[in-house]
Amino acid sequence: MQRDGTCTSLWQYSMPQYPSLNTTIPDKFYDIIIAGGGITGVSTALEFQKAGKKCLLLEAHSLGFGTTGGTTAHLNTIMDTPYNQIEKNFGEKNAQLVATITREAIKNIKHNLYQYNIQCGFEEQPAYLFSQDEKQTKELQQIAEASRKAGIELSYADEIPVPIPFNNAIRVERQARFHPIEYLHAIAKAFEADGGVIVQNCRVTNVEDNEVVDVETTLGKVQCKQFIYATHIPPGVNLLHLRCAPYRSYAMAIRLKNYDYPNGLVYDLYEPYHYYRTQEVKGAKYLIAGGEDHKTGHEENTEACFLRLESYLRKFFDIDVVAFKWSSQYYEPADGLPYIGHLPGHPGNIYVATGFGGNGMTYSNVAAIVLRDLIIHGENEYTKLFSPNRIKPVAGFTKFVKENLDVAKELITKILPAEKLEEFADLAYGEGRVVKYDRHFIALYKDEQGQLHAINPTCTHMKCTVHWNTAEKTWDCPCHGARYDCEGKVLTGPADRDLDIIELKELINEKEEHA
Ligand SMILES: Cc1cc2nc3c(=O)[nH]c(=O)nc-3n(C[C@H](O)[C@H](O)[C@H](O)COP(=O)(O)OP(=O)(O)OC[C@H]3O[C@@H](n4cnc5c(N)ncnc54)[C@H](O)[C@@H]3O)c2cc1C
Repeated sequence: MQRDGTCTSLWQYSMPQYPSLNTTIPDKFYDIIIAGGGITGVSTALEFQKAGKKCLLLEAHSLGFGTTGGTTAHLNTIMDTPYNQIEKNFGEKNAQLVATITREAIKNIKHNLYQYNIQCGFEEQPAYLFSQDEKQTKELQQIAEASRKAGIELSYADEIPVPIPFNNAIRVERQARFHPIEYLHAIAKAFEADGGVIVQNCRVTNVEDNEVVDVETTLGKVQCKQFIYATHIPPGVNLLHLRCAPYRSYAMAIRLKNYDYPNGLVYDLYEPYHYYRTQEVKGAKYLIAGGEDHKTGHEENTEACFLRLESYLRKFFDIDVVAFKWSSQYYEPADGLPYIGHLPGHPGNIYVATGFGGNGMTYSNVAAIVLRDLIIHGENEYTKLFSPNRIKPVAGFTKFVKENLDVAKELITKILPAEKLEEFADLAYGEGRVVKYDRHFIALYKDEQGQLHAINPTCTHMKCTVHWNTAEKTWDCPCHGARYDCEGKVLTGPADRDLDIIELKELINEKEEHA
């Protein structure tokens, strides 16, 4: 199975590509068209198909290519934005709504498991959140109190299932975990069996809300009543790109010498936090651990993130082998809750679901429920709470938006070091770097055969300069998270156009002509 990075995730290793039956779009008109074959797109498509709609799901690559193929698949009702923060930003009643709808989302997954007889290593487990100093303990108490108030069932715990020293811990009931790609493929199959249509290797390139919605794709034009962007972040230029910041997180699947695999989902309270759980895949157990998150394109040496994570884990776990390590991207919302509903600037029939932070396994199913309600039944309290058009002047919002305006910083200060042509030769095999040659910035990648690939480092989304990601061998944009492979082909939106290829020979000739 393919993914939008070079490192192989545990899920890719253990799953084949979802079979592609359609190489063209069979009909010209659908009730609902959904772009994006990750957990959000497929869950939402299934929900509408079950409700009797005629649905088409279009995926630019193959199912699970995006973050769903690089997730760690904890299913939570305690979220990355803790309930005390949600309460502060949105009020007590809305915090209760978040607890209720996330519980519904996990129930929805369980319902699908039962209805379609899906085997995907799903297990309900308690989650443990623990503190390691006084400050964290105070934070933990605030989280516990607000979570209880919101309706989350929890208790203080004397033990946690990982061998890490702690001060205090809480245990939250009825969280869960599964194999995300086994689940994704199974619900995709159910969607097709219910009459839904999936077309892989088909990118949506333009959408216009006219009398009906006109959708342009790489396989031709098609129309629908309602269109949904389940592309993790919508392509193009949209207000949501200022409200969602791209982050990367690092994960490892580890075999332990002592077979002492934790029975539960576990989180510390560091910033960024570490997360742990166990999954059995093809008869072998793995400890899946993650952390080291940073804003996309803001870490010079992404390999170092893996090294730091591994050395941290080795302090506590009896590691036999790190069997898989990978990194992936998520989008942090400005005020702590996802954006699900009308795409800003498009009040009619174009919808979006994004800004899930590290909780997209659950929020994808919240999106499926909320979008179904919104499109079929109209507005309710959930659709208002998650509306992408909400304006929440929460503390820190201005700072968040400013930080997210790396666009300006990148363009104005030109922070990249200007290097010389001789450095073309300095690149190691498999390495990329942005260099300055004459008046031009060039993103250079030297492949494993020593062949140089030169591309224009200006992101085709909003013209920031891309950075090289050593770990995944990709060009990542620090502004809004667009990502390209080493040859400049789009891997992750919001960009919808590849980076331009630069002919080095032409550039050198041009310089000689000017000399
Ligand atoms: C390391 C890591 C660990 C995580 N762990 C957890 C966890 O434990 N629990 C949890 O709840 N969440 C977790 N998350 C978050 C969660 O994985 C994501 O929120 C979730 O996978 C997003 O799913 P999605 O379907 O919205 O997006 P994606 O899975 O990214 O899918 C989007 C799809 O859209 C396609 N696409 C893009 N543009 C177009 C286009 N124009 N036309 C057609 N198709 C297009 C892409 O190819 C892609 O396949 C984690 C995230 C990371 C990075």
